[in-house]
Amino acid sequence: MHDRVDVTIIGGGPTGLFAAFYAGLRGMSVRILDSLPELGGQLTALYPEKYVYDMPGFPAVLAKDLARDLIQQGTQFHPDLVLGETADHLAADEEGYVITTTSGVALPTRTIIVAAGAGAFSPTRIGLEGEADWENQGVYYGVRSLETFRDRDVLIVGGGDSAFDWALALHPVAQRVRLVHRRDQFRAHEESVRAAHNLGIEFLLWQQVTALHGAPGALTGVTLQHTTEKSIEDVACDQVIVNIGFKSSLGPLKDWGMTITKNQIEVDHLYRTNLPGVFAVGDVCTFDGKIKLIATGVGEAATAVCVAKQHLDPNAKLFPGHSSDMDLSSVGTKG
Ligand SMILES: Cc1cc2nc3c(=O)[nH]c(=O)nc-3n(C[C@H](O)[C@H](O)[C@H](O)COP(=O)(O)OP(=O)(O)OC[C@H]3O[C@@H](n4cnc5c(N)ncnc54)[C@H](O)[C@@H]3O)c2cc1C
Repeated sequence: MHDRVDVTIIGGGPTGLFAAFYAGLRGMSVRILDSLPELGGQLTALYPEKYVYDMPGFPAVLAKDLARDLIQQGTQFHPDLVLGETADHLAADEEGYVITTTSGVALPTRTIIVAAGAGAFSPTRIGLEGEADWENQGVYYGVRSLETFRDRDVLIVGGGDSAFDWALALHPVAQRVRLVHRRDQFRAHEESVRAAHNLGIEFLLWQQVTALHGAPGALTGVTLQHTTEKSIEDVACDQVIVNIGFKSSLGPLKDWGMTITKNQIEVDHLYRTNLPGVFAVGDVCTFDGKIKLIATGVGEAATAVCVAKQHLDPNAKLFPGHSSDMDLSSVGTKG
């Protein structure tokens, strides 16, 4: 059983990360829960290679670099990180709440800040019959450890940045890396495509995977079908990595008793939901005048944290003062 924390932040995107930083600044114990194995939310999952132009102080910043710095800032007070787990069930108890994840992990907490964006991200599957049985048994939807693929014959499905990033990262590790894509145009950064060509990574273009061969845990190959000519070919391989995007769903959070309008959680001017001690910020919340931007979401997060602090300690000040007046050298913020 995990310890009870002052605040559990559901969602490790930009808003949740800033909430984690601010709650740490306010001396609160913090847990970040995210269904993805990596922090960063949409910045990391959806557009790591795009430039963001509307972050205060950054005329232009790559989404992945912004995510890296938000993660550094958001984890500097050492929050408990529970990644790869989706918040599923909520039960009130005498000290606050217990959140249970879809895999049954119980997470006690005094307050909750929901920073869940458009909902829990999950990777898009190819859509093959029985595909779920092969997950992590020959078919992977991300790379947690390069070692899993050492000396193996790997097919990477997809034509975006993630597909190319993994192809380049695995090239020196795997025995063979081939990239399967439905077209001959790629969404990935030009430089990555050029690097893959230069390294001699093989491309199987105008192809899609239509069947898996062998058995879960012992993949022997796949059937590829030409996307226009419909011709079929069997290709031997040991592992398939699928990188064809993410889906998101508010899912179980809809059943927690919060007022939901058009897939967003209604909040008041203090980012309080209708459940005591439960707040919502960032893309997931709605109120009159809501604008879905990182710049607005992080401001909502700071306010929600301060209101949560007062919820726990009515004698605490709402405004803690300026960070520039605090000594944060012990947590490594001075550079
Ligand atoms: C292509 C693109 C370009 C964009 N460009 C800009 C831009 O230039 N400037 C700008 O300001 N904004 C931009 N945005 C929007 C910006 O990315 C979002 O406003 C921002 O990511 C919202 O942050 P968030 O933390 O609220 O949610 P998200 O970033 O969506 O993070 C939410 C996290 O919560 C997790 N989660 C959800 N439900 C659960 C659950 N039940 N259990 C566990 N974890 C859960 C998800 O897995 C996710 O990681 C862009 C968006 C896209 C798609």
